[in-house]
Amino acid sequence: MAVNVLIKTYAMFVFLISRLIFSLGKSKPWITTNIVPPTISPDKYNENGYNLRTDLEALKMASSDYGNMVTEIPTAVLDPSSINDIASLIKSSNNHSVPFHIAARGQGHSIRGQAMARNGVVVNMTAMKSQRNGTGIVVAGNRASGYNYADVGGEQLWIDVLHATLEHGLSPVSWTDYLYLTVGGTLSNAGISGTTFRYGPQISNVYELDVITGKGDFVTCSAHKNSELFHAVLGGLGQFGIIVRARIALEPAPKRVKWVRMLYTDFSEFARDQERLIKINDRKDKNALDYLEGSLLMNQGPPDNWRSSFFPPSDHPRIISKVTQNKIVYCLEIAKFYDDGSIHTVDEVLKVLTKGLRYEPGFMFEKDVSYVDFLDRVRGGELKLQSQGLWEVPHPWLNLFIPKTRVEEFNNGVLRDIVLKRNITTGPVLLYPMNRNKWDDKMSAVIPDEDVFYTVGFLHSGGFDDWESFDEQNKEILQFCEDAGIEVKQYLAYHKTQEEWTKHFGPKWTTFNQRKLMFDPKKILSPGQKIFTRQ
Ligand code: FAD
Repeated sequence: MAVNVLIKTYAMFVFLISRLIFSLGKSKPWITTNIVPPTISPDKYNENGYNLRTDLEALKMASSDYGNMVTEIPTAVLDPSSINDIASLIKSSNNHSVPFHIAARGQGHSIRGQAMARNGVVVNMTAMKSQRNGTGIVVAGNRASGYNYADVGGEQLWIDVLHATLEHGLSPVSWTDYLYLTVGGTLSNAGISGTTFRYGPQISNVYELDVITGKGDFVTCSAHKNSELFHAVLGGLGQFGIIVRARIALEPAPKRVKWVRMLYTDFSEFARDQERLIKINDRKDKNALDYLEGSLLMNQGPPDNWRSSFFPPSDHPRIISKVTQNKIVYCLEIAKFYDDGSIHTVDEVLKVLTKGLRYEPGFMFEKDVSYVDFLDRVRGGELKLQSQGLWEVPHPWLNLFIPKTRVEEFNNGVLRDIVLKRNITTGPVLLYPMNRNKWDDKMSAVIPDEDVFYTVGFLHSGGFDDWESFDEQNKEILQFCEDAGIEVKQYLAYHKTQEEWTKHFGPKWTTFNQRKLMFDPKKILSPGQKIFTRQ
């Protein structure tokens, strides 16, 4: 009894100290008038055998993310030792007089607290990795029929999925640029990159899911079985259930990659060439590109950035001079994968595809790299930034989807006006198109209502003292689109009110709302998205 009291006092002490430390440690103090006791008692759940943690290290991890701009402190962190732990925790919340919030946390690579749960419980999905006993990624299927897949725990990282599947000569086909993200985390958003124009987002390449719903039920779902839950969860921002297994589509893995970048000074030609190339997009078409992205080069020093170093150092001076002359240079980036069977034809295929493209003469650059090095191209930059202490800084990112018919206007009004005038943009700016028909409208992810739309990503890194100026720019960009009637959709969206979310989902809101009532009626899950809860 005395021990229990002691533990309780200790837990509360830790909790309060941690709040204080966070308040002092951030540029924007954490202010709250909500000093009510936490709605759950960690001790009570620990008695039931769960690994609910309240130590400072766990709370600190769960109340921070890659964005480094938001702090929401949970009451406890669950290190699940099994899927049952997660189900029981969600059931406990449902049975509680005042249900408490629960958020799955993958890698916490969100920007604005989307994986946080103030005064609730954060499920540290990473802890599941050590509980899988080698079953975290299981590759199976049938080579002859072409139905190959990996059954992957929601907590697994895409980099590990890559390595595990390559051992079988197989690979997923749809990727993100950065692979140290969890499968559950990217499937809750969409998972996009240069492979999306051809293969669709990662959510379009899932055969089946195991989900613990917001009611605590374990449900296996697919496009044919419990399809309402399947479609809800994919792109569902963690609102309907926690993904504990995903069956990911696999295809034979290529070995190497021809990787090409071309520079443009004229936006219309850059956009026209991008759109021309993504028209060839049949999954089986051996003459199609495997990857297409685009980015901006502006006056930011060397033309390479942390997302990948590419340009030969000897060419840096003439590239920088092009950027200085034109203020913005547009970089079209493509890749064609190959293996032993296509090694003799890949150059010809690329030659045909790039024939007639209107990049600046003399500004095409090529590389030949291994498939793994290509897919994992961002890691080197990350490690470098980490070693310089520049990874854990605020990241006031803005990611948008823009209808194709308005992208020229976006270029003129945002890139060539707001961005150049403010002259604060640091970090990569991505801009590339994708095809709507590669997305499944039944899923929760929201995209513009045009056959082709662009994604733009302002991947800013700020200082703790100046990140708000990037946010001001983000707001100005959104306001410009609003005023011009450009119906952009945010990707990895950040909205503060339900009204904004209703607008974001547009015609999909009714379904989204109904699915919430169906699968998480007490609105327990992922409160950090601020869709049904204001934290
Ligand atoms: P978290 O941030 O931990 O969680 C995100 C949301 O998903 C939260 O609401 C959380 O509650 C929920 N969630 C987490 N796990 C589960 C689960 N198992 N089941 C249900 N809900 C869950 N995105 C792209 O699409 N393409 C890119 O190329 C890309 N590059 C990136 C590069 C960097 C450096 C970073 C930091 C992010 C990048 N992202 C990219 C964004 C990334 O996809 C999202 O931030 C994603 O949420 C990260 O996954 P995570 O595992 O860290 O998720």
